Amino acid sequence: AKRTGRLKPVVFSQEHERDVREMALMERTLREADLDAEFFLTFQPIVDSHEDRTLLLECLARWQSPVLGFVSPGRFIVAAEQSGFISNLTPVLLRKALAAIKQWPDEVGISFNLSGHDIVASEKVLALIAILMQSGVSPRRVEFEVTETALMMNLDEALANIHRLKATGARISLDDFGTGYSSLSQIQKLPLDKIKVDGSFVRDLEKNEASRKIVSSVSALSRDLSLSCVVEGVETREQLDILQGIGCRLIQGYFYSKPMREEDVGRFLEQQSGV
Ligand code: C2E
Ligand code: CA
Ligand code: CA
Ligand code: CA
Repeated sequence: AKRTGRLKPVVFSQEHERDVREMALMERTLREADLDAEFFLTFQPIVDSHEDRTLLLECLARWQSPVLGFVSPGRFIVAAEQSGFISNLTPVLLRKALAAIKQWPDEVGISFNLSGHDIVASEKVLALIAILMQSGVSPRRVEFEVTETALMMNLDEALANIHRLKATGARISLDDFGTGYSSLSQIQKLPLDKIKVDGSFVRDLEKNEASRKIVSSVSALSRDLSLSCVVEGVETREQLDILQGIGCRLIQGYFYSKPMREEDVGRFLEQQSGV
């Protein structure tokens, strides 16, 4: 903390150093991890709220490290993205996701998160496509979620690679919509199938008219562009009612279910279909 620049308060700098050290430890631990054994996926339903029917399960990574214990994705995904290590992890997770979906009815798909590093390099995308094609799972059951930030790492490369993914029959959705910097003109360039409205707009939906207006315009925009639209982070009945009132039908969030362990998904789907 001695080398602190004059303008930075010492407290901030110490915190910063701790973050840097933690990140370095995490990156080292990641490099030495047994990816297949330590990482697993949880699955959160994306529901057609008019029919209470699950259309897709979003695959969300979890890390149980023998060294660090349970690490939340908010931390390890960031570390893995910073170091570029994520591109070692993504294929492992995709294999797990494709193995899982085979146990579930054909009408149910998966939605799989990709990072910037995954989509800027064509050889990495081709490797993911090979995993998909060799899995025996119909690519029509698979969606890939990308974020604006990831795309902006290198828009031209990302665009070419998204076209490659789409050519398999898989769908593409734009995650965390509304939190990035991308303009509508950039969105227009992308071969998207779906927009996911970030949960931050839902949190204060009941009290905040501005949030309601934003969600409602995004929903209208997606209709105009013939895209489907999912609203994330829906936790309460009130939020769901408001969203349905403004024409949002596809819903994801704790209101329906938290991310589930693989072994719990089958039962959830059965209960939903009234079996
Ligand atoms: P995301 O892709 O935006 O995923 C949604 C996050 O919101 C998940 O957090 C999910 O558990 C949480 N969530 C869902 N419904 C609700 C709700 O109603 N209320 C609240 N408060 N939260 C809700 P999670 O699982 O901790 O993941 C955090 C982020 O880590 C993800 O955000 C995604 O950016 C990243 N991530 C997770 N798994 C993967 C992965 O396999 N690959 C990549 N590249 N990123 C991943
Ligand atoms: Ca996502
Ligand atoms: Ca999201
Ligand atoms: Ca997010």
